[in-house]
Amino acid sequence: MTDTRTPLIAGNWKCNTRRESARSLAVELRERLDYLASVEKVVCPPFVYLPEVRQALNGSTIRIGGQDIYWADDVAATGEVGPKMLAEMAEYVIVGHSERRHQLGETDDMVNRKVEAALAAGLLPIMCIGETLEERQAGLTDSVLLAQTRNGLAGMEIPGTFVIAYEPVWAIGAGIAATVDDASSAIDLVRDEVKALFGGLTAGAIRILYGGSVTPGNIADFVSQDGIDGALVGGASLKAESFSAIVEATARVAPVGKG
Ligand code: PEP
Repeated sequence: MTDTRTPLIAGNWKCNTRRESARSLAVELRERLDYLASVEKVVCPPFVYLPEVRQALNGSTIRIGGQDIYWADDVAATGEVGPKMLAEMAEYVIVGHSERRHQLGETDDMVNRKVEAALAAGLLPIMCIGETLEERQAGLTDSVLLAQTRNGLAGMEIPGTFVIAYEPVWAIGAGIAATVDDASSAIDLVRDEVKALFGGLTAGAIRILYGGSVTPGNIADFVSQDGIDGALVGGASLKAESFSAIVEATARVAPVGKG
């Protein structure tokens, strides 16, 4: 590994907030976190509040992401947001979140098309992968993660700025996170697969996050692992106090990046 990987904490606000609470959450995060440069901070509000959040964070060190995209612009796709549209409003985009895969039927092929379209539009994808409880209990965790990684990235080159989030589905919103050992070995497996697909330079540069019931109380355990470069945070990203505490704990544990 040759590059240093800056820790990344991304907050997925999901289908939460209203116009005013989205704006005030962004303002408070800016007040609390703008000073902190050693951790990259990203917030992913609902699409409709991107303008408010963008305005609140204008000139801030906090970056903005979308929660999803469609794989094409300027087509008949009612309700979708195209990659070029999102690129006008955000730098990052979450792709393949398990809520989309399992509640809305998003397939690996759709994730693949979205990742490719995001990269082509200059967005930085955060591609989510993770096994369900049933898959885990059937001993399928490794094969699911490898298939989602291979299929999601099929037929493309990825840049060193790429981000993967390992989010065991059973840990999302559950209040019970994966063990650090399980998260760490899953992430090592995925990084090895990225190495096999794209080579050591890319594998050493991309950031792989853990996600699933991350809190201010457990984040240090995760980011103290060599291979875990930060977290994708759901519930705890909705309060400025807890998201800031997660970012600040990450800065204390991983002050100079990894790799
Ligand atoms: C998520 O939805 O990506 C997530 C990790 O949620 P939570 O932190 O609430 O488990």
